[in-house]
Amino acid sequence: MNSDNQKIIFLDRDGTIIFEPGDFQVDSIAKVQLVPEVISSLSRLIDHGYILVMVTNQDGLGSNSFPETQFTEAHEYVLELFRSQGIEFKDIFICPHFETDNCDCRKPATGLITEFLVQNNIDPQRSYVIGDRDTDMEFSKRLKLQGIKIDPYAKQPWSSIVDEILSVDRKAKVVRQTNETEISVEVNLAVSAPVSISTGMVFLIICLNNWRNTPIPQSSLNVMAIWVSMNIIPLKMWPYLLGKHLVWH
Ligand SMILES: [Mg+2]
Ligand SMILES: [Zn+2]
Repeated sequence: MNSDNQKIIFLDRDGTIIFEPGDFQVDSIAKVQLVPEVISSLSRLIDHGYILVMVTNQDGLGSNSFPETQFTEAHEYVLELFRSQGIEFKDIFICPHFETDNCDCRKPATGLITEFLVQNNIDPQRSYVIGDRDTDMEFSKRLKLQGIKIDPYAKQPWSSIVDEILSVDRKAKVVRQTNETEISVEVNLAVSAPVSISTGMVFLIICLNNWRNTPIPQSSLNVMAIWVSMNIIPLKMWPYLLGKHLVWH
């Protein structure tokens, strides 16, 4: 039993990290196609201490129309692809049944991960289910976790999801660090824009302009986040510090 509260992302596979083909079966390497941004996005989550767990329904896996050897070849290829980019899944759970089988492990049922939930201490505030179907969202409800629905065909399907997760993460951290002070600082340096700082007296909307063209290194952001949380630098000094990155509204 791990005693630390773990930040877990329960990830669907087809339609979430790889595209789901028209016949719903990824039974050859030729059918494997990554959803845009998934590698960099999952890397960001891992860098921030999130643990990835795959939970996937594979209807009829092992039947004549979906032989296990074909599934396994494609599945291993997917895992090796992610592994080569530093992305590992702590666990992988697969339901091979049809909906009509009425098993207790096909999402939205939670039977696949019952044992995992017993063995792991999950931080419910910072754990998520990410998937492309309503059943994934129902699965999240039954687990009492936040569900995030992804549209793999959206322009940037992953980056906004990760921005949102990391913003919750960072806010949680900053609020904890400023418990002792009068000031409440809400800073979100994880996202491109906008960033807001509120003291109750002052409300500033700061837009970090051209973020992608003039990136601030993550290490600098981490230092700035600490400065903000400790109130080392007065709020009015931030425009000078960030200089050309700032646009005032
Ligand atoms: Mg799916
Ligand atoms: Zn099942």
